[in-house]
Amino acid sequence: MKQQLKFIFLFMIISGTIFIIHNLYITWEFNNFPLDKSMRLAIDQKRDELISRTLSSYDIYLPVPVKIENLPDNLYGVTIYNRGDIYIILNRKMFRESFEYILSTVLPHEFAHAVILAKSDFTDNENSHSNEWQNICIELQGKNCEQFVNIDDVISDKIF
Ligand SMILES: [Zn+2]
Repeated sequence: MKQQLKFIFLFMIISGTIFIIHNLYITWEFNNFPLDKSMRLAIDQKRDELISRTLSSYDIYLPVPVKIENLPDNLYGVTIYNRGDIYIILNRKMFRESFEYILSTVLPHEFAHAVILAKSDFTDNENSHSNEWQNICIELQGKNCEQFVNIDDVISDKIF
């Protein structure tokens, strides 16, 4: 009987450990899955489209780099202005579930922030989702260019 209890106990520890490791692996795999080539291509195509719209509408050539990294869960993307450079980071954690949204909404949204930064000689905007931002977002044919976004997704070097 004692042996049997020992065996059951051991079995529980081992299966519990396997369960935890499996869950850790699932989380890791979700955050680090290899990016589909077609996704990177679609991002690059959308970026090219935004660059040419910005050129034709505002006469600004703005080849903003678009990076794909893991960001905190509440962010789809950020626009970063750091020591004269502007770049956009998209949250790869969101790619699996929301890739269409990233393309149609998030990338134009962030690009509009980049245009504002470039237009205003890189001075910081008090209100990052201003009327001007909204007009640019719409001009770039972004979807869901609502102003009332409560996430502060413009990071300037003022806070570094
Ligand atoms: Zn924003």
